[in-house]
Amino acid sequence: MHIHSGVFARSLDEEPEWKRRYREEREKRLHARPEGSEQYRPIKGTISHYLDDPWKGIDEHVREPFHFDATVIIVGGGFAGQLMARNLLDQGIADFRIIEKGADFGGTWYYNRYPGAQCDTESYIYMPMLDLVEYIPTEKYAHGPELFQHARNIGEKLGLYEKTLFRTELKEIHWQQDSGLYTLKTDHGHRIRAQFVIGAAGSLHRPKLPDLPGLESFAGHSFHSSRWDYSYTGGDVSGNLARLQDKRVAIVGTGATAVQIVPHLADWAKKLYVVQRTPSSVGIRANRPTDQEWAKTLAGQWQKPRMVNFNTLLSGGRVSEDLVQDGWTRLRQALLPRKTADTTPEQLAEMRDAADLALMEGGRRRVDEVVKDKATAEALKPWYKTLCKRPCFHDEYLPAFNRPNVHLVDTQGLGVDHLTERGFVVKAKEYEVDCIVFATGFERATTWSHRAGVQVYGSNGKTFSEACKGGMETFQGWTSRGFPNFFIMSAQQSFFTPNNPHASTVQAEHLAYVIKECSKRGIRSVQPTAQAQQEWVDMIVQSSKLRMAFQAECTPGYYNNEGKVNDRIAKDSWYGGRSSDLIAQFEAWKEDGQLKGLELTPNRSSSKSRHDMSRI
Ligand code: NDP
Repeated sequence: MHIHSGVFARSLDEEPEWKRRYREEREKRLHARPEGSEQYRPIKGTISHYLDDPWKGIDEHVREPFHFDATVIIVGGGFAGQLMARNLLDQGIADFRIIEKGADFGGTWYYNRYPGAQCDTESYIYMPMLDLVEYIPTEKYAHGPELFQHARNIGEKLGLYEKTLFRTELKEIHWQQDSGLYTLKTDHGHRIRAQFVIGAAGSLHRPKLPDLPGLESFAGHSFHSSRWDYSYTGGDVSGNLARLQDKRVAIVGTGATAVQIVPHLADWAKKLYVVQRTPSSVGIRANRPTDQEWAKTLAGQWQKPRMVNFNTLLSGGRVSEDLVQDGWTRLRQALLPRKTADTTPEQLAEMRDAADLALMEGGRRRVDEVVKDKATAEALKPWYKTLCKRPCFHDEYLPAFNRPNVHLVDTQGLGVDHLTERGFVVKAKEYEVDCIVFATGFERATTWSHRAGVQVYGSNGKTFSEACKGGMETFQGWTSRGFPNFFIMSAQQSFFTPNNPHASTVQAEHLAYVIKECSKRGIRSVQPTAQAQQEWVDMIVQSSKLRMAFQAECTPGYYNNEGKVNDRIAKDSWYGGRSSDLIAQFEAWKEDGQLKGLELTPNRSSSKSRHDMSRI
């Protein structure tokens, strides 16, 4: 007996039709790529050019290796590194340097200059330190150049240009027990000593490529989305890719990056193939210029409460007013079950399923409303739960498929099979193209050291990679036993919010507080006690379990380690409860003032080194 129709259809003894469809889509993907994250190939050797920085330019300075000491070294000049710098300055700690491999600040927004690059989170909460630079973004969702310029403005305002080694890659850091300092090695042969090293290298920044047979044999042009080659395409980040007018172009991938790029390629390429493995859900963007009258009402410390308001909602909490009112907050509120004291766990699960289904059905209807060709529309519909994959928001992506030059290559979960000299092959059919853009994302499942390109040698002879080979081992996500004074800014074993700079804001305050306390208390080094670290890791793993159960039913992607949900990803994960609760816990830990869970090594009284923390 059927109790509903359409995707709701179910017979009493069967799983609902939508669940079956979600499961089948997931199994199709798992079957196609049983190797999980191993399907991606590290970019090195014959394909290392995919990492080349198109923006680096020529270094005009003579770069003799030099030596210097600093109290703090920050690895990475993106928003996280800049927030760290600001908080150090706020604490009166000016003896720091930033090491940045790019030629300027910006991190994500330095590298990702692909056409259409845009902030997916409201710019009034995403662009950090608006108070510092006294700036109001021009749009609700700012575009790449504005975000990049913002990072440059922060650099100017804080005097960070004088404190940063650009075009420099930190390679190794070695803890020296005797001196209580790290020695650092860069790719330029600099020798640096520092008391604290802070890894602010970003979480999704090391491009990844699928391990496709024939990758080297393709004779056309190709590049990764984060290394856009405008010398080939023409134009700039605003589009105008005029040199593609006589070109057949393929874009591989349909994630948040490709969704922003496709409309621009569609505008200019003679022929565009959008190669899809799993469709994204693409909600309404509704970008708009900043209302200047509203902007005039913003006074004082307005940004942080707005960030907190957004994060409370995104954490599953309730607020009296949704200040941001966008796709993210509407989505999260739609998923919040209206439970009562009598609601049973089974009813709660059903309510959650119903809310999720309604949301995804709405997204699938949007595809039907916009995309004219029925087969293409059908192929563009996502079949998984809302938060299984990164939700996207865009108003020009779906309409691009109505253009005669745009062809969706629906690989039905299989992905590209291989490349040839002339193009790419899907299901035994070869597509000849002049150019392939890999919008295939960034490493997530690899170790911190691999992603950051920095190996850390700690106090116990181990590297950080070895210490974390079974998953992260930290206290509060930022400090790890055996690696004194090496701190990390990351979501792993910490908290996650789609508004990444908010997380960095909290973490930077936290770390600057710890460093300042070390200075005040005459502490030479800190690391977690074995017990505190173990308890923290256990708490993270335990709290991740709910999400792991959810992720195990999701279609593969970087959110769920390409479908391999195991103990390691529970450890590498972030706190499974509300991020707002964990932020509150961090605040309480600071207020308590005891530096609980940390093992503190005092300064040697005889030490007259400039690294005596009383000097900072
Ligand atoms: P993703 O990892 O999200 O997407 C990679 C895409 O490549 C997926 O569609 C994937 O398919 C596809 N793919 C991988 N291998 C193959 C293959 N062999 N054949 C065909 N397709 C393949 O990377 P993105 O760069 O799109 O986004 C990464 C993250 O960056 C986002 O999740 C978001 O957090 C962030 N971002 C933020 C933006 C912002 O404005 N703030 C804008 C853009 C990105 P499948 O899904 O099947 O694995």
